[in-house]
Amino acid sequence: MKTIFVVRLFLTLLFTTVALSAQDQGVSSPAPSNGVAASAVASVSPAPVVAASTNPVSSPCPQGMVCPHDEKMVLPSDIHPTLKSYCSVPVDGPYIAMSFDDGPSATLTPRLLDLLKQRGIKVTFFVIGQNVEHAPEIVARAAAEGHEIGNHTWDHPVLTKLSDARVQEEINKTSEAIFSATGKKPVLLRPPYGAMNPRVHRIVDQDGMKVILWSVDPNDWKRPGSAVVERRILAGAKPGAIILSHDIHPGTIEAMPATLDALLAKGYKFVTVSELIAMESQHSKATTTTPASSTAPTTKK
Ligand SMILES: [Zn+2]
Repeated sequence: MKTIFVVRLFLTLLFTTVALSAQDQGVSSPAPSNGVAASAVASVSPAPVVAASTNPVSSPCPQGMVCPHDEKMVLPSDIHPTLKSYCSVPVDGPYIAMSFDDGPSATLTPRLLDLLKQRGIKVTFFVIGQNVEHAPEIVARAAAEGHEIGNHTWDHPVLTKLSDARVQEEINKTSEAIFSATGKKPVLLRPPYGAMNPRVHRIVDQDGMKVILWSVDPNDWKRPGSAVVERRILAGAKPGAIILSHDIHPGTIEAMPATLDALLAKGYKFVTVSELIAMESQHSKATTTTPASSTAPTTKK
């Protein structure tokens, strides 16, 4: 009897510990896209994959730490002054770039494309290669309608934890899938979770691509509800901003009509990320030679 009690007590403690541990991972996970990628895949196909269980890295553009004053980020500048990533771009007009990660979603991305088309808005999609493979026609439509398609890796790993060869494979496979869907090779890469370091950055640079982070993160992957997503995006928007969101969550898509209309009403003009970078003001170029940060985003919260 006593033995049974002890065993039950042990099992209770064990389950409690496991439950708390699981809760911790769910609640405190700092990764902006963690968990998102898995549903991205689920929404497109039953394909396996995606590093949803990997629990890495913090959001790369925390409040004023990595991209203070909305300047172009240089990382880690003390050692590698030529490695540049973009959280936002100093521009001389009311230009803004919306970006949607982790798709395409078979159901939600077409809805978003309809909303964008109705408003004449161009955005940037950072797509996951294996999702492109399952829904190339959606990516083709997005490109045909003037949106930019960026590379978000094949299966959403933490690139900094992979070998050089694996990093290259993640990038190449995805770029090839995008090329076969759209006829164009992507020139932008958004690293999953914002995880980046000089080694991976150099590989991306050698591939002739730019590393794109963000300056506004509504944390829509936590599914806070469309009103909250809208409020956060409107609160963070400013000229030159790169806004992160995910076209694989219904709440994000539901937030878009009001969000986009409010941004239009404020006078913002929507451009793709590459167009935004091309608009970088000459004045800012001359004055932002001082590095914004000397630390890679992956080491910051
Ligand atoms: Zn992602």
